[in-house]
Amino acid sequence: MNTPKKILEEAKTIDKQYDTLVTLNEDLPKKGIPIVVKDNICTQGLRTTAGSEILHDYIPVFDATVIKRLKDAGFYVVGKAAQDEFGFGTFSTNCFFKVPKNPNDIERSCGGSSGGTAAYIKASKLVNYGLGQSTGGSISCPAAFCGVVGLTPTYGLVSRYGLIDYANSFDKIGPITKTVKQSAEILNIISGYDSNDQTSVQRDKEDYTSYCGQDISKMKIGVVKEFFSEDIDKRIRDNVWVAIKKLESLGAKYEEVSIPLQDYVVPTYYILATAEASTNLAKYCGLRYGMSSDLEGYYDDYFSTVREMGFGKEAKRRILLGTFIRMVGYRDAYYIKAMKLRTKIIKEYKKLFKKFDVLVGPTMPVLPPRFTDIEKLSPVENYMMDILTIPSNLAGMPSLSVPVDEVDNLPVGMQFMADHFEEKKLIMLGDAYEQG
Ligand code: GLN
Repeated sequence: MNTPKKILEEAKTIDKQYDTLVTLNEDLPKKGIPIVVKDNICTQGLRTTAGSEILHDYIPVFDATVIKRLKDAGFYVVGKAAQDEFGFGTFSTNCFFKVPKNPNDIERSCGGSSGGTAAYIKASKLVNYGLGQSTGGSISCPAAFCGVVGLTPTYGLVSRYGLIDYANSFDKIGPITKTVKQSAEILNIISGYDSNDQTSVQRDKEDYTSYCGQDISKMKIGVVKEFFSEDIDKRIRDNVWVAIKKLESLGAKYEEVSIPLQDYVVPTYYILATAEASTNLAKYCGLRYGMSSDLEGYYDDYFSTVREMGFGKEAKRRILLGTFIRMVGYRDAYYIKAMKLRTKIIKEYKKLFKKFDVLVGPTMPVLPPRFTDIEKLSPVENYMMDILTIPSNLAGMPSLSVPVDEVDNLPVGMQFMADHFEEKKLIMLGDAYEQG
């Protein structure tokens, strides 16, 4: 029996080794199922910082819908996991509080931005469930780097009420777990209509766990040529191919396909995501919540002083970029153009899903990098790392990252993507692969 005492002891040990938690919940209930939650999801009475200094003392007075549903289902929150500030990053290195380390090798990144959650699930023997959030890959990426499962649902399937937003038209909350079935269990609980979220979709409830252990012999997989380009580490490509062959041996059919617009996903995403982020961050003005300062001079000076102190470097970069993109004179050239491209990209994917149940490729183009190598990356080189994970958020479609064979003792992820609300297909294939 996992008593709260044991869970707390383990949490402290994991934290000492891997710096995974920003806030530990010392007040655990006697009964329930433990879950670790990314620190941008509001938890009543438990500090929620989104990894930012500007929210260093923010204690929500309410639970996000996903947390409320999990608590109603018997879960309790062990702690709030480290992340890139507001989700701005791919390696969980843009963190004010702690930079979580990869349990497979502590000199390497555990991925971002839900890095603390994935690292915790990998390291823990007692906790199987985590909640992450993705704007452009933050569930898949850390799942792949740590060697766990990450499910990014369809946009609108899971309520965003109580999520500290990064880019509202991209943000999705989803499970990070040890197995595909556990992700399906969490999705069963957190999915479903919520009148508090205007983008929440009204649909019949599904039992996602019922898609585990199913026959996959009628499934058609599209292997996306562009996901296996020369820019992707060859060892990763090779291992994902081995995994595809395994799915074939389990009865699934595959065919190679092409997504010509794939080259445009990174610029399209970074234009739209920073535009949305810069507007979202305007609410951190030192008055309503979070960091404040002694009021001196005019309001503009006060506003700038608080923001100068409270935001990290990457947040400032994104405010500048996003504001520029939205300015009169640049709006048509960047923002509107990117919106048009987004629509084209969605259409391209939709067309392929008429023929294929899922599309597949590696989750990340590189193995978990060393912290010392991350420091050498330019912002654009860093952004390019998201090339394989962005499509699922840009197109609002669900994706699932599962661990495949390792390379030099480092985890490798394979990512499936399906059409809107076809999570069942991801679960069928992911589970079949895991069990096969
Ligand atoms: N790496 C991407 C970014 O920095 C995606 C992060 C995320 O999904 N929150 O925008």
